[in-house]
Amino acid sequence: MYSIGIDVGSVAAKAVIFDGRNIIAKEIMPTGWSPKESGIALYEKLIEAANINKSDIGAIVGTGYGRIALPFIDRKVTEITCHGKGAHYLDAGVRTVIDIGGQDSKVIRLDAEGNIVDFLMNDKCAAGTGRFLQVMAHALELDVSQLSEIGRGAEPQNINSMCTVFAESEVISLMAGGASKESIAAGLLQSVCKKTYSLVSKVGVENKVFFSGGVSKNPLLKEYLSEKLGVEILSSEFSQFLGAIGAAIIGYK
Ligand code: ADP
Repeated sequence: MYSIGIDVGSVAAKAVIFDGRNIIAKEIMPTGWSPKESGIALYEKLIEAANINKSDIGAIVGTGYGRIALPFIDRKVTEITCHGKGAHYLDAGVRTVIDIGGQDSKVIRLDAEGNIVDFLMNDKCAAGTGRFLQVMAHALELDVSQLSEIGRGAEPQNINSMCTVFAESEVISLMAGGASKESIAAGLLQSVCKKTYSLVSKVGVENKVFFSGGVSKNPLLKEYLSEKLGVEILSSEFSQFLGAIGAAIIGYK
């Protein structure tokens, strides 16, 4: 018997299959304009990749902002709960999850069983999220995945604007003034680091700390955060799948 967790986020839809012990398959695709269409397409892609029969699936649990649009799921669970369960599954020692996705960022504190002790979420403003980095990477004519390697080793340029719209103008002015892409990329990651630090400071941090969400695929930001918080920060190849993993685990019970 298997369970499936589907996390339809604002930018990316993620899904995994759990067999009670291991994650046996994972798939990701852009959410695009329709959470429903991408959710269905992702589900079919996942079943095909894992080569399992639909009749062997015990439960499908949906999470993420697009979960309400999924017609084929058995249960809907909030992202916060799913991230907690997902982190606990990957490492039972995790007590703090820092998640930065496409449109929001959150800090979640967990107990020894992976239950939520406290959390704080920023979903009001794009500053400090993946969307902020995508807009800025575009202004620099880079892909968001290049910001880390380009910024590494550079002296970070001070980016004063927190607002995404003003920060984009600031980046364009900085480039016009001769600032290097390297220093601007480093400055943008420092800006996300500061914003995240202020969110983490309000909830508090306890070891172990796990960094999840698509933005956790940025190693330089991870280093900045680790230095600023004074703690080691873990992540894994499953970091962007944490919500989907938690949903699948909840579905298996
Ligand atoms: P959501 O659940 O809101 O759709 P995700 O957690 O899937 O968000 O993360 C999506 C975000 O991840 C995108 O906005 C993008 O900026 C960011 N992202 C994806 N790949 C990378 C990368 N290699 N480096 C930095 N950020 C990345």
